[in-house]
Amino acid sequence: MELEQKVESKIKQTLKKIDLNKNTGKILVALSGGKDSSAVVYVLHKLGYKIEGFHIDLKIGKYSERCLEKVKELCNDLGIRLHIYDMKKEMGSGMCYLRTAIQSNYKENKKGQLKNCAICGVIKKWVLNREARKTKGIKYIATGHNLDDECQTFLLNIFKGSPNLSANSGPITRNLADRKFTPRIKPLFYVAEEDVLAYAKKERLPFNPEKCPCALDSYRIQLRAFLNTLSKKDKENIIKNFNKLYKKIERLKDKRLNYCEMCGEPARKNICKKCELLSV
Ligand code: AMP
Ligand code: ZN
Repeated sequence: MELEQKVESKIKQTLKKIDLNKNTGKILVALSGGKDSSAVVYVLHKLGYKIEGFHIDLKIGKYSERCLEKVKELCNDLGIRLHIYDMKKEMGSGMCYLRTAIQSNYKENKKGQLKNCAICGVIKKWVLNREARKTKGIKYIATGHNLDDECQTFLLNIFKGSPNLSANSGPITRNLADRKFTPRIKPLFYVAEEDVLAYAKKERLPFNPEKCPCALDSYRIQLRAFLNTLSKKDKENIIKNFNKLYKKIERLKDKRLNYCEMCGEPARKNICKKCELLSV
């Protein structure tokens, strides 16, 4: 099978598995400017889904400028609406400044060390959920997480001693339905990273090939290097095993969703992770 057909049919199967069709509702595609989310928006558009794009301008110097440029180019080519969230305007500072402030407060309060990607991930998720809810007609958020990302997360959760954290994961978030929570879908859940890259190149999609300059210290990067010594088949098997294990850990997933006492957003505890980070 041709690469194009292979990638698109895996995405179609995934969408079918999670019961998503063209009439299920509008999808807000979280666009980073990288190959994965560019491929997602391109394929969803090709398949006729109702979509809009959403980009968080993290203000990480020239890197962010180049990401924004690619996202604009792609949405323009596809003729879809793009929402841009400017971190400096909305939160008072860009990701680098905000992250450094959080890290030094954590250190001062002897709360340990926080990795760059962990902080950025929490803030991006918070922004995405809140803005998706504010955007008229949006039923789902789509992200570009691929098979390799999901293998890493699954293993990371095991290595951190919390395999139960994977209970909310999958091609669609398995949180309980909640008026404040927009379900997140991952159309590339079963597509390997190397295939996404080849697809994005073949279709000549605009994307920024650079890695985020702040992603330096992550445990995930070490795991990624290890996983890259395995074959694609091995990685597919890890995800198959995740699906088997999921049936056993399903009962461990969050039964209840609280609302953060500080910002009102959905939270596992009384205070959401983003407010916890910013209030230390
Ligand atoms: P990452 O956590 O950077 O690996 O990104 C995973 C997914 O999150 C991407 O495929 C996008 O769908 C989304 N994402 C990451 N960064 C941004 C951003 N700056 N703006 C919007 N969505 C993003
Ligand atoms: Zn909060």
